[in-house]
Amino acid sequence: MNSKHLPLDDSLYHYLLSTSLREPEVLQKLRNETAQLPMSRMQIAPEQGQFMALLVQLMGAQRTLEVGVFTGYSALVVALALPETGQVVACDVDERYTTIAQSYWQQAGVTHKIDLRLAPALETLDALIAQGESESFDFAFIDADKRNYHNYYERSLQLLRPGGLIAIDNVLWSGRVADPAEDDPRTVAIRALNQSIHRDDRVDLSVLPIADGLTLARKR
Ligand code: CA
Repeated sequence: MNSKHLPLDDSLYHYLLSTSLREPEVLQKLRNETAQLPMSRMQIAPEQGQFMALLVQLMGAQRTLEVGVFTGYSALVVALALPETGQVVACDVDERYTTIAQSYWQQAGVTHKIDLRLAPALETLDALIAQGESESFDFAFIDADKRNYHNYYERSLQLLRPGGLIAIDNVLWSGRVADPAEDDPRTVAIRALNQSIHRDDRVDLSVLPIADGLTLARKR
């Protein structure tokens, strides 16, 4: 193969999962329940969750942010990777999905590590900044409404300590970002953020083709 990248067909993806995934039963159950929902595509891929848990462990993170909770898989996988004293501040507006999330956080015994803020995420992030919590977070995961991605990125960058890491989901957006004919507002917003982070000298950067594309930006 000449190409420097490897297309993941179903059999290779299955192989990857079968030789690497160590998904706790509670996460498997949450994934199965979420798969029944019409919006199940909003859940992150399990190998992506395991990768984020590894990042959090590598960093020795204590405090993390999550923008966009849905049914709670990513908050749970991060909370399980944090020490007992760790904390996830989790932002979402949807009461129905986060009720599912909370029941699994409880089953996993991590409710004391997750501080759910049911409000528009920008309000929560601005309140944290107003309360003097800038530069106090180690890690942030952004996976919410795409048209606010730029705002979530800026707030998260302010809330992260130097050396902290922002992970941003869906940055390859099923490939639509690379198609100039795609001009719907969400594609345009993701494309604009990708371009602006590429030029942003406040961060070190890597864009990974895992799942639907994951940007890692480390605050300098
Ligand atoms: Ca996502």
